Amino acid sequence: MAQYHEIKRAHPGCLLFFRMGDFYELFFADAVAAAPALDIALTKRGRHDGADIPMCGVPVHTADAYLAKLIRAGFKVAICEQIEDPAEARRRGNRGPVKRAVVRVVTAGTLTEDGLLDARRHNYLAGVAEAAGELGLAWLDLSTGAFSLAPAVEHTLAADLARLMPGEILVPERLLARPALFEVFGDWKAALTPLANPRFDSEAARRRLEGFYGVKALDGFGQFSRAEIAAAGALVDYVALTQQTGAPHLAPPQRVAPDTVMQIDAATRRNLELVTTLSGERRGSLLATIDRTLTGPGARLLAEHLAAPLTVPEAIAARHDGVQFFLDRVEARAALRERLRLVPDIERALTRLTLGRGGPRDLAALRDALGETAAIRSVLAQPGLVPLPALLGRAERGLGEHGVLVKRLGRALSAELPLFARDGGFVASGYLPELDQLRELRDDSRRAIAALQARYAEASGVASLRIRHNNVIGYYVEVSAAALERLGAGKLGPDFIHRQTMAGALRFTTIELGELESRIASAAERALALELRLFDDLVGEVAARRAEIAEAAAALAALDLAAAHAEGAAEAGWIRPEIDPEAVFEISGGRHPTVEAALAGKGGFIANDCALGDDRIWLVTGPNMAGKSTFLRQNALIAILAQIGAFVPARRARIGVVDRLFSRVGAADDLARGRSTFMVEMVETAAILNQAGPRSFVILDEIGRGTATFDGLSIAWAALEHLHEVNCCRALFATHYHELTALAAKLPALACHTMRVKEWQGDVVFLHEVAPGTADRSYGIHVAKLAGLPAAVTTRAAEILEILEKGEQGGALARLADDLPLFSAAARRLTPDPTPQASPLEDLLRAIRPDDLTPREALELLYRLKSLLPD
Ligand code: ADP
Repeated sequence: MAQYHEIKRAHPGCLLFFRMGDFYELFFADAVAAAPALDIALTKRGRHDGADIPMCGVPVHTADAYLAKLIRAGFKVAICEQIEDPAEARRRGNRGPVKRAVVRVVTAGTLTEDGLLDARRHNYLAGVAEAAGELGLAWLDLSTGAFSLAPAVEHTLAADLARLMPGEILVPERLLARPALFEVFGDWKAALTPLANPRFDSEAARRRLEGFYGVKALDGFGQFSRAEIAAAGALVDYVALTQQTGAPHLAPPQRVAPDTVMQIDAATRRNLELVTTLSGERRGSLLATIDRTLTGPGARLLAEHLAAPLTVPEAIAARHDGVQFFLDRVEARAALRERLRLVPDIERALTRLTLGRGGPRDLAALRDALGETAAIRSVLAQPGLVPLPALLGRAERGLGEHGVLVKRLGRALSAELPLFARDGGFVASGYLPELDQLRELRDDSRRAIAALQARYAEASGVASLRIRHNNVIGYYVEVSAAALERLGAGKLGPDFIHRQTMAGALRFTTIELGELESRIASAAERALALELRLFDDLVGEVAARRAEIAEAAAALAALDLAAAHAEGAAEAGWIRPEIDPEAVFEISGGRHPTVEAALAGKGGFIANDCALGDDRIWLVTGPNMAGKSTFLRQNALIAILAQIGAFVPARRARIGVVDRLFSRVGAADDLARGRSTFMVEMVETAAILNQAGPRSFVILDEIGRGTATFDGLSIAWAALEHLHEVNCCRALFATHYHELTALAAKLPALACHTMRVKEWQGDVVFLHEVAPGTADRSYGIHVAKLAGLPAAVTTRAAEILEILEKGEQGGALARLADDLPLFSAAARRLTPDPTPQASPLEDLLRAIRPDDLTPREALELLYRLKSLLPD
């Protein structure tokens, strides 16, 4: 137990998986916490300080599944292995406990096993640091080696984290205590790993990074701020701390420059259902709808692109060129995709191998994937295909030459592979003559045992005599008690030495059997040792080529993605968008990617145009269910698709790069954070009005709905003015307050559009068509009728509506529109609020150091403070 306590003390904050034989055992508080989370029994073992020791355990060979549960439940787990063979320790005369050490700490951000990871998503470990008054953000995916960093600022940190969706975030304690970041970190509570401030020291971090990459200076990788380096260094440090069995492959850190990716805050991502729907499902999200990739790395690249659409026109065009290439070359695309289907996920296999936790199947994955690279290169080298567009050309070169390694792996590995190298049997026969001899010896001996059984059976006349094997006593001869009885005592012969008496049978051994057994055991042991040596050798060869292999993996992902976009575009008739330097947005025949897919086969989707140029803002009115939200979202999604380098669902699209995308769609209570629907709506609207600029694209759906009518109308009205005058962005503003259309006469860049409906025999028919103009009424009562409200209620509602519409309201609004205080509103925003002078009371309060006060001084201070209160 002393050994246990010592190791436990060295890993605070972790559950300790303490290896004992074939189990990982947990003790004390660990056991009490883990047993219910794992749904396993809590037992007791021995006593400590006069009390029972709570204990639970999981079998080593199924530990992954339990680990997954614990990590998902928010635990970190330190894996403590026996690092010497117990039998050997005894042989050496070692009396103490078997030597044990923690070989790895499993945390949510440092997973590498397929069973613990989603194959189609990155799992990032992120770090936030501060140095020289700036913030820096770094993130890496240990399972693939991707490593990036970027500058950060307080007010966009939440959006950055929403983009990365990290599994774990390292934060210095000092930043956690900063009030401006309370809310950001509050949203990520489950993923936070606070660490002591010195771990984020930028100088130490620089040295650590230089040491890790074996370079004299980091300049070769790019120019990084001190805060970025501090964040990146903390990550590398944490990886070393948690992965004690090897140095993982990490690509040199890549800097994501500010303003090169479209900013999309968390609410907008959620509202637009980019990776999951509002109900949390993957199906029905944009990602699921457009994903035609065939490999894990391709799918992860798509998810990464979707999280961070580009803003640099040349970079976007380069991606479009790649898609166009495969769209135009149907056969090459089909041939490439056929090969890609055979390519396993080597990014993760490579990491596991370099971290010393790979198995023979990871080597086979490399053999298969790298083997395909040659075939893929020859697909791309067909005459008529060259020269390839730049991005594909780079990928083609990145595929590299792996013939020697592939050939060696091909010869070395057998057809059926065990999960772990320690299980043996993965080296193909014919690869190592020495191994073949040992195996022959083992098999010969097995045959000899079969012959021995036949001989003993015949000699004794007991046909049911069997030679069997178990792990406790090894090989033995088993004869049923009844047969022995028939033979009479001693009839088996003097060679047979009694070992065990079972119910109904007796077990014996013989000298001959013992000799055969030890021959088998030693051949098997030597064979396994030989296989393990070869395994290490192969892993060493892989590790030596890891940069080339990682590059090939990245190249395969890039090819997969370009061909996948082309496949999707060909299937659904999507087109290449033009990226324009001006802040325009012109879509002809635009469709909503997911709604259209959902409607497939159930009546067509109605395409709609959207042209934001001189008219930057469209005010879209129309009844509920007419298709307003769909129209708004489809345009935001088209902008995203265009800027990730995909083709878009439209007949024609001309898009001026969008630097920030905002959406305020639908309403949801955020009760977990104590916010009502209306509060959520206002927080999101505030973010838009405070941040949107001339290159931003905003969609606002029904703002001001969660409060009283006049309240809501007033807020919507003022927000629309602000968007037009101050934000000057492109916007689609859907509303059922058709009173707002009065603004169109006054705001030059505002145009009114409406969802067309047809009234037919007293019912409304939604045409889902956007046309210039305004809705003359809401048709709310019609929709209520459709929904099945009792006729008495809808009839009465119609009467009330008529009275209200005749009332004073219409005239008042017309007057308000006439004397719009537009420019004064804008001017008001530009003059900063005067900074109030601090009062003497505040000065005194600020000067107080509570820890330095004696109780008497504190009391006197209270009197002074009171005396300073203004009357
Ligand atoms: P609103 O926001 O005006 O209440 P929605 O955008 O939610 O309306 O659309 C309601 C439903 O109408 C959608 O779920 C969809 O099935 C259908 N719809 C919307 N737009 C179209 C369209 N352009 N073509 C075909 N069906 C559409």
